[in-house]
Amino acid sequence: MKKYNLIVIGTGPAGEKAAVKAAYFGHRVAIIEKAAKFGGAMVVTGTLPSKTLKETALYFSGKYEKGLYGVDRDLRHEASIEDFMFRKNYVTKTEGEAVEENLQRHQVDVYQGIASFEDPHTIKITGSSGEELLEGEHIIIATGSYPFHPPGIPFDGRRIHDSDTILDITRYPKSLCVVGAGVIGCEYTTIFSTMGTKVHLVNNKDKILPFLDQEVASSLVDSMRDSGVSLLFNTSIKEISVPNSDEEMIKVTLENGGSFEVDMFLFAAGRSGNTKELQCEKAGIELGKREAILVDNTYRTNIPHIYAVGDVVGFPALASTSADQGRVAVAHIFQTKDLDHLPTYFPYGIYTVPEVSTVGLSEEEAKEKEINYCVGKARYPEMARGKIMGAKSGFMKIIFEKETLNILGVHVIGHIATEIIHYGLILVEEKKNLYDVIGTVFNFPTLHDLYKYAAYDGLSTIAGHKVRP
Ligand SMILES: Cc1cc2nc3c(=O)[nH]c(=O)nc-3n(C[C@H](O)[C@H](O)[C@H](O)COP(=O)(O)OP(=O)(O)OC[C@H]3O[C@@H](n4cnc5c(N)ncnc54)[C@H](O)[C@@H]3O)c2cc1C
Repeated sequence: MKKYNLIVIGTGPAGEKAAVKAAYFGHRVAIIEKAAKFGGAMVVTGTLPSKTLKETALYFSGKYEKGLYGVDRDLRHEASIEDFMFRKNYVTKTEGEAVEENLQRHQVDVYQGIASFEDPHTIKITGSSGEELLEGEHIIIATGSYPFHPPGIPFDGRRIHDSDTILDITRYPKSLCVVGAGVIGCEYTTIFSTMGTKVHLVNNKDKILPFLDQEVASSLVDSMRDSGVSLLFNTSIKEISVPNSDEEMIKVTLENGGSFEVDMFLFAAGRSGNTKELQCEKAGIELGKREAILVDNTYRTNIPHIYAVGDVVGFPALASTSADQGRVAVAHIFQTKDLDHLPTYFPYGIYTVPEVSTVGLSEEEAKEKEINYCVGKARYPEMARGKIMGAKSGFMKIIFEKETLNILGVHVIGHIATEIIHYGLILVEEKKNLYDVIGTVFNFPTLHDLYKYAAYDGLSTIAGHKVRP
């Protein structure tokens, strides 16, 4: 039986970064992957495919330049489903290869097959060529999550999809019902709506993305409504009847008595930890809700030499945080003393059309914490760069403490919000105040002007009169 200092299960961002880091520090490392393609949900079924489809939808719909020269460039009717999927397939393929190359370059031994525990130090790999046992001094579980399938939804991967199978459609949906107004549901709603599909978004609450600042969330709802999305809130699915023929429409009946017909259906509400195949009980590992593995703040499970990182431990379930959790676990296992915890603040990027990004406290959270706060705002169409881009909407909102002017939260909705948030991350993380923003020189013209205008707007609110930038 081969022996390793570290065995990692899963090649998503959490597993890849953990394996490569441990190998970089000179340890003997094995990684096991059950899927044919490397990179996990980040590369194959989640982050990169959906983000590429969003960019493709913007390109083909002409929305990047819509209205800029008074002409709407509508290429949608020329774009086939193959055109729509082309770049997604290219990015997925090349990024998957990059993960494999990175593992090889760091001399990580790669095994293909399903990993399961035989005992706390022994992993069985069940692959196409049979079974193999490996012994690990330390083990990191990075097996990710899978889409939740509630009873009563007849998933078939053809017309009734989850967030994995929607990526393999071979024709455009004429119309689509999306269930779940979380990040994945909202992203696919706006991607398909941008491509011209009539989308019905069903949500069992009255709000989308409840963790967002609600002014930003409402603005995204308005934008969806303006794009023709039918928003069906405070209700859920009662029944779906799927006809035998693709020519006929699927009938969706709601709990509130309403009903409508659609061509395809996407259930995008909830994910569970990928732990079923691991046989955690053989190692004595404790699980929590939704099949997630329980860990402490160093990502150690109740078994001291076994760690778990990424989606399999639940919140926040992002590619960005998963990769760093992998690195933190390795730092603790091998005492590398370089990254022993994740920072307190991390940004959320929601790749809807328009994009949303956020860091720190929302206005609702500031109220709940009884902070004496104030708000500064700036709008994309009023910025020189916004005018160049033809921006018709979009804004930044800064939440700051009234007395100290310290910045507590930054929220952006608009073009490349997920890029411009990072300066906001530094402001919140380093407890900077409005004068730190005003005293910083940015390139001109850029969307970073939003920060200056929002800071001046905040000062104006406090002064009770306009303070000019
Ligand atoms: C539609 C969608 C959009 C997303 N968008 C974003 C985004 O914009 N930004 C962002 O930061 N995050 C996004 N995410 C989340 C992100 O993809 C995940 O947080 C991230 O991929 C989790 O990484 P991971 O390494 O923990 O698990 P995964 O990436 O899921 O990788 C787990 C790997 O383990 C393998 N595996 C599982 N069980 C076994 C086993 N028993 N034996 C061997 N191998 C096994 C799997 O095959 C898989 O390759 C999105 C997710 C989805 C679904």
